[in-house]
Amino acid sequence: MLTIDPQQLRDDIATLAQFVEPETPGTTRRAFTDTYRAGRVWLRERMQSAGLTVTQDASANLIGRRAGTTTAPPVLIGSHTDTVMGGGRFDGVIGVLGAIAVARALRDAGVVLRHPLEVVDFLAEESTPLGSLFGSTAMAQGFSAEFLARDVPGWGVVGDAIAGMGGDPSQLLHPLRRSGEIAAYLELHIEQGPVLEAAQVPIGAVTGIVGIRRADIVCTGRPDHAGTASMAVRHDALATVADIIRATEQAALARPGTVATVGSLHVAPNQTNVVPGQVRFSVEMRSLHWPEVLSMWDEIVAAIHLAGAQRGVAVQIGAYEDSAPLQFPVWMRQIVTQACGRFTHQVVELPSGAGHDGSMIGLIAPAAMIFVRTKDGRSHCPEEFAAHDDIVAGVNALLQAVLAIDARIEE
Ligand SMILES: [Zn+2]
Repeated sequence: MLTIDPQQLRDDIATLAQFVEPETPGTTRRAFTDTYRAGRVWLRERMQSAGLTVTQDASANLIGRRAGTTTAPPVLIGSHTDTVMGGGRFDGVIGVLGAIAVARALRDAGVVLRHPLEVVDFLAEESTPLGSLFGSTAMAQGFSAEFLARDVPGWGVVGDAIAGMGGDPSQLLHPLRRSGEIAAYLELHIEQGPVLEAAQVPIGAVTGIVGIRRADIVCTGRPDHAGTASMAVRHDALATVADIIRATEQAALARPGTVATVGSLHVAPNQTNVVPGQVRFSVEMRSLHWPEVLSMWDEIVAAIHLAGAQRGVAVQIGAYEDSAPLQFPVWMRQIVTQACGRFTHQVVELPSGAGHDGSMIGLIAPAAMIFVRTKDGRSHCPEEFAAHDDIVAGVNALLQAVLAIDARIEE
């Protein structure tokens, strides 16, 4: 069985980890910075040394391409190399360097695929004040003129930032690729959660990326003197929200595989000696199964109205924002499950609770992901860790999945 060179991959991960801001803890290589740019100069050289022809598209996605034997659309593999402030060494990185390791293994073994193979380092996946998921959004959807013209204090105009990375914002009003122009997309990523560690398996097959509903709610009661207003006469907005938070938690606990969070509270007047008069807060729900999100939301809305009525507090449910779940195609899931099964005694299938470049590319291409076990489920922090043997298992599964996609005769 064809496998990758584990030592070369270890060296590559160690070398990229040296391109960091020296003054911050952990790994800081934020998008659009000189450090990020320097890391990508090195990355371009690594792609070339693996036999790839490297270009940048209009969104400054770094793409290394290896020709196939047919005119079929390419199989795309990769992830991102930017980090959050004070992040870890593995998030995104193993997906890009793993993809280069796959290309290198194919080149060294003299294997030429039917499909061209493209290794991608997507521009700016992590959140910055400018936004997130830049490269994959440009590829799958494009941007509005307003978004490209946004001027963010300290970071500049969005379009200028993309141009500064070598992109061409004038070409980004339309998607860079259309449905059918990518044969399949595969992304290897750390899990950033506890499932694989608990199951004691190195890697897992991702079933899809959860959908999210976020809503803003305002509860308006009456601010009163915290000493003189007896408990019976109060219309306490924060106590009302406490009831709602409890109901939100219950709604998710009653539905395995779902999560719900009240993560943001703005209390007015927010003073020790005043009964809270008004609270603005968020409710966020996630599930791979959209009907679960909808039924959770119905239950939470009922709880909001009930809590408001019981305490004489007015409730106002504002506009909500939805992002639909992305279920990976069954045939892609089967390929990834089989590929993972060669490197783990038991294949665990799990959804991704976080967004990834795959969430965008999955809109225009058959996509799937492989997760690597993450120590204590931690990421976006200096403690983020994945064992090298686990990463190697993931990259080898990625290689087997690429071979299986290439061997597949499309109906
Ligand atoms: Zn990531």
